[in-house]
Amino acid sequence: MKKLTVKDIDLKNKKVIMRVDFNVPLDEQLNITDDMRIQAALPTIQYILGQSPAKLILMSHLGRPKGKSVDSMRLTPVGKRLTELLGQKVLKLDDCKGDEVKKAIAESSEKVVLLENLRFYNEEEANDPAFAKELASLADIYVNDAFGTAHRAHASTEGITQYLPSVAGFLLGKEIEYLGKAVYNPEKPLVVILGGAKVSDKILLVENLLEKADAILIGGGMAYTFLKAQGKNIGNSKLEADKIDTAKKLLSKAKEKGVNIVLTTDFLIVDDFNNKASRKIVDEIPDGWESLDIGPKTREQFKKVLSTAKTVVWNGPVGVFEIDEYAEGTKEVAQYLATLKDATTIVGGGDSAAAVKKFNLEDGFSHISTGGGASLEFLEGKELPGIAALNDKQESKV
Ligand code: ADP
Ligand code: MG
Repeated sequence: MKKLTVKDIDLKNKKVIMRVDFNVPLDEQLNITDDMRIQAALPTIQYILGQSPAKLILMSHLGRPKGKSVDSMRLTPVGKRLTELLGQKVLKLDDCKGDEVKKAIAESSEKVVLLENLRFYNEEEANDPAFAKELASLADIYVNDAFGTAHRAHASTEGITQYLPSVAGFLLGKEIEYLGKAVYNPEKPLVVILGGAKVSDKILLVENLLEKADAILIGGGMAYTFLKAQGKNIGNSKLEADKIDTAKKLLSKAKEKGVNIVLTTDFLIVDDFNNKASRKIVDEIPDGWESLDIGPKTREQFKKVLSTAKTVVWNGPVGVFEIDEYAEGTKEVAQYLATLKDATTIVGGGDSAAAVKKFNLEDGFSHISTGGGASLEFLEGKELPGIAALNDKQESKV
């Protein structure tokens, strides 16, 4: 898992091409509504610029243009914002390949170049070798700092590594370090909190973590299929009937492995899914009611197990946290995790990360992963093509 990073390679007078995640939200006037992803890339960008490279060429996708040039998905607003943040002019190009691009890069005196949206070409997601080679021909060294797309073998994440020495940026390096340690070499006890909408999304994750975890706390929408598997009444709560058998198997495998599985034992239930519905806390869910959050007893049980943890991995909110009335369980779990100073606390999963942000608790965690799908696949134990393709530390290709 040890991959070369920008710190392991000489960048002086080199042309560096870096895959970043500038897939930022834009409003109708094409203003950036949240520039967090651009801000997050700054440390690697600034480090590279400090090494006196010949050029730093940045590339990203934005939205889903599906292989066509779409004006509303150009990276022009990103180029402007980046110019402001860096305090130095960024040369934004209107294409990402071809002679014009090469000429513009060669003739410009600007150090930082931003290519146009990679997904204006179908070849990007198809990992087309000729397209990857074109991108590679712009530079001497490739850096990947886009964890959110590392689980996809695209031309800018995998194909390009066939042609250039390839290293990780700081953002990607931090993801590899924290997620890698949690999955492959966790400080024990490892406690996993699982939630979210569906069991079916998380089966591979549970299977993989059963091999490593000391305890798994299950809340959220996925808990009810497990509870049903134990013969409990779940009323109208979320159920995946075709996954009851799988849930049974996972529960018996946990028993075999000595993994402590803690399921929801009390529930915040409603008789109608909207804010004005009547709500109550119960130990058993009556027919006609739906559970949308874990109750106070479950929260205390979760905290008790968490208090013993040296490593915590959290994937999936334990309730419908988007609606304030059903956010209390997720909030309490997040607040408690933020107080654990002796444990490494890791959040993987787009909605779980959004929950931590909603409660302003980012500073309380060791690591909040920036990739939803990518972190899920990492935690499933899969090798991510964008990471696997980077040069290993002992390799002497560079
Ligand atoms: P992540 O992105 O962190 O992996 P998921 O995408 O698996 O998380 O799930 C997030 C969704 O799960 C949230 O939109 C949340 O509203 C939903 N959810 C959580 N608890 C419940 C529940 N009890 N019933 C229905 N949906 C739930
Ligand atoms: Mg999600």
